[in-house]
Amino acid sequence: MAKDNFVEQIADIETDFPQWYTDVVVKTKLVDYGPVKGTMVIRPYGYAIWENIQKEMDRRFKALGIENAYFPLLIPMSFMTKEAEHVEGFAPEVAVVTHAGGEKLAEPLCIRPTSETIIGSMYSKWIQSYRDLPVLMNQWANVMRWEKTTRPFLRTSEFLWQEGHTVHASEDEAMDETLKMLAVYEEFARTCLAMPVLTGRKTEKEKFAGAVATFGMEAMMHDGKSLQAGTTHYLGQNFAKAFDIRFLDKDGTLKYGYTTSFGVSTRLIGAIIMTHGDARGLVMPPVVAPVQAVIVPIASKKEGVMEACRALKEKLAAAGIRVVLDDSENSPGWKFNEWEMKGVPVRIELGPRDLEAGKCLLFRRDTLEKTECALDGAEQSVRTLLSQISENMYDRAKARMDSRIVRAGSLDELLAGVEGGNFVRAGWCGCRECEDKVKEFAQATARVLDGEKTSDTCVVCGKKAEHTVIFARAY
Ligand code: ZN
Repeated sequence: MAKDNFVEQIADIETDFPQWYTDVVVKTKLVDYGPVKGTMVIRPYGYAIWENIQKEMDRRFKALGIENAYFPLLIPMSFMTKEAEHVEGFAPEVAVVTHAGGEKLAEPLCIRPTSETIIGSMYSKWIQSYRDLPVLMNQWANVMRWEKTTRPFLRTSEFLWQEGHTVHASEDEAMDETLKMLAVYEEFARTCLAMPVLTGRKTEKEKFAGAVATFGMEAMMHDGKSLQAGTTHYLGQNFAKAFDIRFLDKDGTLKYGYTTSFGVSTRLIGAIIMTHGDARGLVMPPVVAPVQAVIVPIASKKEGVMEACRALKEKLAAAGIRVVLDDSENSPGWKFNEWEMKGVPVRIELGPRDLEAGKCLLFRRDTLEKTECALDGAEQSVRTLLSQISENMYDRAKARMDSRIVRAGSLDELLAGVEGGNFVRAGWCGCRECEDKVKEFAQATARVLDGEKTSDTCVVCGKKAEHTVIFARAY
């Protein structure tokens, strides 16, 4: 097979990024399309990424005292209507079960789009006293949101996620939790996904339906568009009042609790693909890569080569490296291309001449550079290389994002900024009309508030700016 065959299968990343994405997710066998429009099948190579994300995230949650639980998929329709903003926000996306067991149900049941309502109803039973607080729980689950336009990992009618739900005795404590989890997400994205993000509060328009305040982390994709990669919500007493989550406080009075929720989903896999991918396909961040190193034997029929490859594989696996030995009948060139497309961080080439010299060749996917390494102690060399790749991928993505955040003093500048594939930092007066105007004029939305007030004027109306906003086109 010709050397470039795999690359030819993928659309050009610079000129047709949407097609590049579709080609990459299907051809590397991350996903396939489900029979129902808008659904996806997560194939083993894609699911392994999710398992690694889960493992890393779950470890962080448990270290913070968050426990896992599981709540039902079906929610009585009446629950959804208890919090006015919540039902309004989710109504267009909710799938409803009306029949079961061959009969029409007395009350329709909705398939969870998120679980604040059902979890709130249970918390109201479980929480009586201040001694029961805080409650810190998380569930790993699927949710369903009936989307009109869908793309694998980015927007599908069913997806996997984690949703954390906490209850606290005070406003301060709940807000601290909301911000703490945002920081956990940021650290996770940086350390495990090599993905730089901007974090901050969302505008009223962009906040979660039913929240008092939503905070998000936004990542810059290859085409300069933003992807919301995780959100945390301070829910105040909205859900506590709707579901009667009350506790007897130390002073003997009955008070409503303050709740939070936070989530990341299989969208993160889309974010990895579009942050790091290149013309050859995926570039997997080492911490969550399903395969961290692949061994490709050269002249495998020559005496001792396969034995040496197997021994090397065992040595790397024993050192905790996720390693594969590609002993298929395909040519080395074919294997190189396939594993490059799949984004495996390190390729190890081992042939008779290497064996004689007691070394092997390491190829790193992020920079496409080759180095030699001694077979003796190869596990340490590979481990060191994996962490260098992780750091380099983060630094590269960070430098790229930083270089593509521009300022705008007018709507025309804002439009030019987002059309050039940038995030645009601009002043905003805080009114909804101006936010809508940005959307209409530049097809851009307020991704996060920068936090600090500026002396700048609003990019739309010219009045005094109350906030600095990161505007971008978004997935
Ligand atoms: Zn304005």
